[in-house]
Amino acid sequence: MNVEYDAGSTWVIKVGSSLLTNHGEGIDRSLVSGWVDDIVALHRKGIRVVLVSSGAVAEGMQRLGFTRRPHSLQVLQAVAAVGQMRLVEMYESSFQRHELHTAQVLLTHDDLRSRERYLNARNTLKQLLSFDVVPVVNENDTVVTDEIQFGDNDTLAALVTNLIEAQTLLLLTDQPGLMTDNPSVNANAELVRLRRASDLERSE
Ligand code: GLU
Repeated sequence: MNVEYDAGSTWVIKVGSSLLTNHGEGIDRSLVSGWVDDIVALHRKGIRVVLVSSGAVAEGMQRLGFTRRPHSLQVLQAVAAVGQMRLVEMYESSFQRHELHTAQVLLTHDDLRSRERYLNARNTLKQLLSFDVVPVVNENDTVVTDEIQFGDNDTLAALVTNLIEAQTLLLLTDQPGLMTDNPSVNANAELVRLRRASDLERSE
């Protein structure tokens, strides 16, 4: 991967549930530690990182004894509330090995549509970064269901990137990259190697 390490820049890094769990069996502490080590290495290069992490549903399922992902949104929301506790505990203890603190930030898409909430969220995140704290963002699954239903936090990570005017958004996933369609339902989905924001305007 060829990425520029621009000291003083801010990155948003999104870690998907599949990168934190072993075959969907709750969150694996050693996997969390591995990602934390990588983020700390960036931090030491002078890059400030906002982490957007899912994994609450996966961990909550394990804790409550679900062997399959529940279909009911109400059940998924309750499961996420249980799992979120351990998700943040794991990040906090992992970052503390490197003497860094974390902060839990739960957001919704609607929060970022309201001007007042948008400014409050931005100010809080910027203040946390100025304290050298690593914000750990997830969707507030108790009050909304956008990412539980569709996103695994990809959209939320993009919104946070705009919110704090971060220079880089890194979406870490178990997929090879941006695909033309959902590869789990369309076997003909192809990898898009390079796509520029301006391509969208041209195809419209
Ligand atoms: N906010 C959810 C989580 O942390 C999104 C991902 C999902 O639905 O599995 O688990």
